[in-house]
Amino acid sequence: MTNPSENTLTPTQKTQLAKLEKRLRGHVGKAIAQYNMIEDGDKVMVCLSGGKDSYALLAILMLLKESAPIHFDIVAVNLDQKQPGFPEHILPNYLDSLGIDYKVVEEDTYAIVKDKIPEGKTTCSLCSRLRRAVLYRTAKELGATKIALGHHRDDMIETLMLNMFYGGKMKAMPAKLVSDNGEHVVIRPLAFCKESELIQYGELKAFPIIPCNLCGSQPNLQRQNIKRMLNDWHEQFPGRIESMFTAMQNVVPSHLCDSELFDFKSIDATSGVINGGDLAFDQESYAATNTANTETTPDNQLNIVEVQ
Ligand code: SF4
Repeated sequence: MTNPSENTLTPTQKTQLAKLEKRLRGHVGKAIAQYNMIEDGDKVMVCLSGGKDSYALLAILMLLKESAPIHFDIVAVNLDQKQPGFPEHILPNYLDSLGIDYKVVEEDTYAIVKDKIPEGKTTCSLCSRLRRAVLYRTAKELGATKIALGHHRDDMIETLMLNMFYGGKMKAMPAKLVSDNGEHVVIRPLAFCKESELIQYGELKAFPIIPCNLCGSQPNLQRQNIKRMLNDWHEQFPGRIESMFTAMQNVVPSHLCDSELFDFKSIDATSGVINGGDLAFDQESYAATNTANTETTPDNQLNIVEVQ
């Protein structure tokens, strides 16, 4: 599955690509195993937008399919939303070159969005709602048992921050969940992949990127702000993003305040020590080591930080 443009890579770039691909395969394999995302006999519908993430998702799933101990099928689906200037030949040409099963669904959601949303307002939320409905319908028509989306680790962390800052909820993007209409299992196999790795992978693979904003919509400013904040944190405090993602996999309901999630009312003197118990006025000591992925932490330094 070599992209012809890969033949123009220098030997150093080829080595970089091989290493990166191995790492991404590892991340995706881990997510698939940890959340039981793909099972024997599944038909996985990979939603291909034309962005770097969905191209990477398809490429890595195709590699894993070759070596997986189970059998699963892949069908790539692109929704042509009839945005002006959408280069409709790019994805079919690319998918033909891969020799895989695919379907391009043509649906003029652009006209609906233009009709319903006043000029100058952000159109992305209606657009993605319409897209979701078409994709669910397509999954049913194709007999897909899983719908795979190209969201990655940074998308998930950004969503967590957005929900905390603007939605009053501690909620991110699920790695695997049933769709809101109750009919499909939606998976995010790139859950453990960093966006920076996917950017580099996309460049080395020279994916024929199709921008999402051909419609002229403005980017979601709140998400842009969160992205900037997280990037600043990453620059100033290497390892913080990794630690946040580890935290999302390591929730301690008894030490939060959601009485739906933890039965605080039943606690009495006989309950025993739960999750380390209450430390009263003691300050906890934290090893400022990246607990998820030590790549960005220099030499596993253990800087003890006192947190009030
Ligand atoms: S940028 Fe345009 S095409 Fe992309 S989600 Fe927003 S409205 Fe839809």
